[in-house]
Amino acid sequence: MEFEHNVDLSRFNTLALPGRAAAYQKITGAGQLTVANDFAGRRFILGGGSNLVLNGDFDGLVLHMAIPGKRLVKEDGEAFYIEAGAGENWHDFVQWTLQQGWPGLENLSLIPGTVGAAPIQNIGAYGLEVGEMLHSVNAWDFKNQAFFTVDRNNCRFAYRDSLFKQEGWHLNGQIAITSVIFRLPKAWVVNTRYADVTQELAAQQIAAATAQDIAQAIIAVRQRKLPDPATIPNCGSFFHNPLVDSATAGRLKSAHPALPQYPQPAGRVKLAAGWLIEQAGWKGKRLGSVGMYEKQALVLVNHGGANGNDVQQTMAAVQADVTAQFGVALTPEPVFL
Ligand SMILES: Cc1cc2nc3c(=O)[nH]c(=O)nc-3n(C[C@H](O)[C@H](O)[C@H](O)COP(=O)(O)OP(=O)(O)OC[C@H]3O[C@@H](n4cnc5c(N)ncnc54)[C@H](O)[C@@H]3O)c2cc1C
Repeated sequence: MEFEHNVDLSRFNTLALPGRAAAYQKITGAGQLTVANDFAGRRFILGGGSNLVLNGDFDGLVLHMAIPGKRLVKEDGEAFYIEAGAGENWHDFVQWTLQQGWPGLENLSLIPGTVGAAPIQNIGAYGLEVGEMLHSVNAWDFKNQAFFTVDRNNCRFAYRDSLFKQEGWHLNGQIAITSVIFRLPKAWVVNTRYADVTQELAAQQIAAATAQDIAQAIIAVRQRKLPDPATIPNCGSFFHNPLVDSATAGRLKSAHPALPQYPQPAGRVKLAAGWLIEQAGWKGKRLGSVGMYEKQALVLVNHGGANGNDVQQTMAAVQADVTAQFGVALTPEPVFL
């Protein structure tokens, strides 16, 4: 396979960080993956670059997933089964399913990136995680030189986590997801648990919301709250919401009664990372060209001209301040290359 060389990656990551790939190939069909083994060095699978921190030049091969296609695979009494190529734009795919009359994914509207990356960190928003609506994942295994399928029950979906984030999987370019099959139940359940969504629907005077109404409400809320990467480069939430044990949660609640806490299974408690960062004084604060967004402290933004090192310095400063003030460790959500 003839690869492109010395390719600029700054336009392929939503933080707009500089870096070049020693070798690069756009993948528009799964068959191309079978010959990508010709490259001897490291490999990285790139989607929309919206969950990525680029640390300068990459000396390996970037395979840019652009496999198209979306279709109804089958329909039974209970659900629609829809397959989408890994390179399909996630938001466009969600809107397309709604237009076809297959609701279920509306709460995940306007999340940037590709269909193929959605299962990697089990994308989630407004009370829904993609794993809940997924049937199976089709992928190529570079090591074993074979296509394989993982059913939903074996994907080990958890909060911003899945089988595909485990050691030996995508992080060292071991597998490439080629398509995803979704299972959208015909018995549609309205999911408007989040106050932001109900308030937006009320403001629009919508009483019995359709899936399209919910999608439009979520799009409006997200556009108000989150910076558009096209104008203010960012990669969404920069830190996970920390999960702590109940004793730690109790201690924090006594010291900081306003700290939002969300009970989870097995006695664990999820804390709002954005609140911790804001209280640590980082909302709207910047260190050189990188800062935390003025309207949402959880989002790290590139004010212009930043590189991967600048991002890591701001990240470390935020982590240090939150740990000093609350004794809580923040872990980053994006992938570092
Ligand atoms: C403004 C903004 C808002 C966001 N909001 C949310 C949100 O609400 N919820 C949420 O969960 N996320 C959110 N994100 C993060 C991001 O959109 C998701 O993580 C998205 O799934 C990343 O998709 P991508 O195609 O850009 O992946 P990339 O950033 O290109 O890659 C991410 C990881 O997935 C791997 N990967 C990508 N494609 C494949 C493939 N086909 N096969 C194997 N590995 C692959 C890459 O190697 C990398 O490790 C947001 C980001 C931004 C910029």
